[in-house]
Amino acid sequence: EVDYKQSLGFAAHVKKEKEAKSSEFARTKTIREQREYLPAFSVRDELLGCIRENNIVIVVGETGSGKTTQLTQYLMEEGYTEYGIVGCTQPRRVAAMSVAKRVSEEVAAMVEEHGKRDLNDEIDGLGGTVGYSIRFEDLTNEHTVIKYMTDGVLLRESLRDPDLNKYSAIIMDEAHERSLNTDILFGVLRKVAARRSDLKLIVTSATLSADVFSDFFGGVPIFRIPGRTFPVETYFSKSVQEDYVMAAVKQTLQIHFNSPPGDILIFMTGQEDIEGTCTVLAEKIENLGEDSKPLLVLPMYSQLPADLQAKIFDAAPDGVRKCIVSTNVAETSLTVDGIKYVIDSGYCKLKVYNPKIGMDALNVTPVSRANANQRSGRAGRTGPGFCFRLYTDRQFREELMETAVPEIQRTNLSNVVLLLKSLGVKNLLDFDFMDPPPEDNIMTSLYQLWILGAIDNTGDLTTLGRRMVEFPLDPPLSKMLLFAHEHGKCSSEVLIVVSMLSVPSVFFRPKGREEESDAVREKFFVPESDHLTLLNVYLRAKQYKFDAQWCTKHFIHSKGIRKAREVHAQLVDLMKQQKLDPISCGGSWDVVRKSICSAYFYNSSKIKGIGEYINMLSGIPSALHPSSALFGLGYTPDYVCYHELISTTKEYMSCVTAVEGEWLAELGPMFFSIKESYESALKRRQRERADAAKMEKEMEKKKLEEEERERE
Ligand code: ADP
Ligand code: MG
Repeated sequence: EVDYKQSLGFAAHVKKEKEAKSSEFARTKTIREQREYLPAFSVRDELLGCIRENNIVIVVGETGSGKTTQLTQYLMEEGYTEYGIVGCTQPRRVAAMSVAKRVSEEVAAMVEEHGKRDLNDEIDGLGGTVGYSIRFEDLTNEHTVIKYMTDGVLLRESLRDPDLNKYSAIIMDEAHERSLNTDILFGVLRKVAARRSDLKLIVTSATLSADVFSDFFGGVPIFRIPGRTFPVETYFSKSVQEDYVMAAVKQTLQIHFNSPPGDILIFMTGQEDIEGTCTVLAEKIENLGEDSKPLLVLPMYSQLPADLQAKIFDAAPDGVRKCIVSTNVAETSLTVDGIKYVIDSGYCKLKVYNPKIGMDALNVTPVSRANANQRSGRAGRTGPGFCFRLYTDRQFREELMETAVPEIQRTNLSNVVLLLKSLGVKNLLDFDFMDPPPEDNIMTSLYQLWILGAIDNTGDLTTLGRRMVEFPLDPPLSKMLLFAHEHGKCSSEVLIVVSMLSVPSVFFRPKGREEESDAVREKFFVPESDHLTLLNVYLRAKQYKFDAQWCTKHFIHSKGIRKAREVHAQLVDLMKQQKLDPISCGGSWDVVRKSICSAYFYNSSKIKGIGEYINMLSGIPSALHPSSALFGLGYTPDYVCYHELISTTKEYMSCVTAVEGEWLAELGPMFFSIKESYESALKRRQRERADAAKMEKEMEKKKLEEEERERE
């Protein structure tokens, strides 16, 4: 396994420092004191009173006031967990995991303080009293009464249990974020609340504009947790910045060497620019030599292993400044104490539906003014702070939008449309949307589901569609799995392909060893397919029991492939629940390719010229991605299907599989038909005639034989 710390190049002397234990505050205060210091605690009783008297309450409070970590515990302390579970939804997986861990520690500390019984890991560890559930990972047990989960998980639970009867209270956290699933949950939970007079529903928001939420539920009370914030001085860049990574590095060094102590929080967009920033920063500091002031640089993004994510909450050793480089998860979902300086790149990654390619893409997009203000607010939590915006005052005023566009209005809705259909919503345009998505988006999603065969001409779910909903997968992937089972008799193989597609790429390509790792990866290539290459890698790793050393030697992320194994196990369970025992096709993998085609036929390209492809639906030139096995081995079949398009300077097809033209016609008849040449038509007719003659002969022979037998 790679050593992440090393690859970041921590300043040498920081490595020598002993592990950070706890923040200054945590060092000196007990967990109880920390809890009681939070703004939410000062209004605890009023808040619980408000919840007692109203079934639905909107709670507004600054980030860090204790909404996420305290509300669930207050409800437990008040007895709400005696007849059900307290659920708390999060738009982000990272937040669900991280917060659950913290709350389980807080709950255990309170148990310890009371000293009534010894700590028991099964009850007091994470996954006991306090647990979390995210897609493909359920860390709860029969003791769990506080459950953090992604909004998607709760939405799926409502399929099985429409009234969500096991919950006594549900907190829809981070409602201001307006994630797609939270928005759908609003509509679903409004109905549940109308049916269940015993359910407490609490909606929390970090922004003051909570009226829309209150109005949506018919004017329910808004409870405001008083803020405790300090002034933040905000500075804009004097000129437009070309490269926000370099600008952020420069600003960080400026602060580090010229400003008083206090930690730094840098907002970047994603893994790539976060790692870039961390690397450059570490290099610069190291170049300054042993005498320079130490800086502890810590990345934070969703794909980072959980133990490294947790490090952002540890205090740096004495005299060392901490610098966290994060995605917008640190904007409102996670609060790190002690931040005095915020550097805002002005960008974030947003999922945006791209009608040109017919799918969602994560695009780097300017933040909204509301986001920018949230970001700067992070500097003023424990004392006065400073915010440096890497964009100009004019850009802020003229180019940034007031607030972000809710996800429901900008992304592909196929998944939720399928879900809503199976929840019995007949006409989607009538659903209780807080902000209805553009009608076009709904229509596009219906269309996608129709071409996959999940809904029929009248818009009702088909048998296939009803089965697809059972899997927490994007519709094409669940279609692939079900097609493989029923038609390809290769669900064992496709289960692996789907699992591998559901985790980040397992291939590891370290800097400076690109050629070496490429050569090793090439040994796994299956010439006609990247999907089959993934299957091959998995099967090989399985032979070696997913051994970490074997993985590292073969430039494969062992954690990643083990994650795929977990996903695989869960999908197998789901298949079995539906009485579908996985079937293997043995070594003949053509049916696997055909199953892939059944799900991605609309993502297909045809060869045109030497090694060049054009998209069959859009006519746009699309190239094989250089990481593709087909590219690597120079194999250029006439037709390919791909998992997704990556648009950079040109359109690249990523994860590609060779398919037969006939399959496209058979599986995607709404798009393709076979055009026969005169010659092949002639040949076909000759063949048909020959076949017919042969058949006639055989029948005659049989007749003669039968007559003979009768005579005997
Ligand atoms: P809100 O939801 O209102 O934004 P939170 O409940 O998330 O507030 O945060 C309350 C406090 O808990 C903050 O001071 C935060 O720093 C602290 N906290 C949250 N997670 C952790 C953690 N993993 N380690 C230490 N402190 C944490
Ligand atoms: Mg929160």
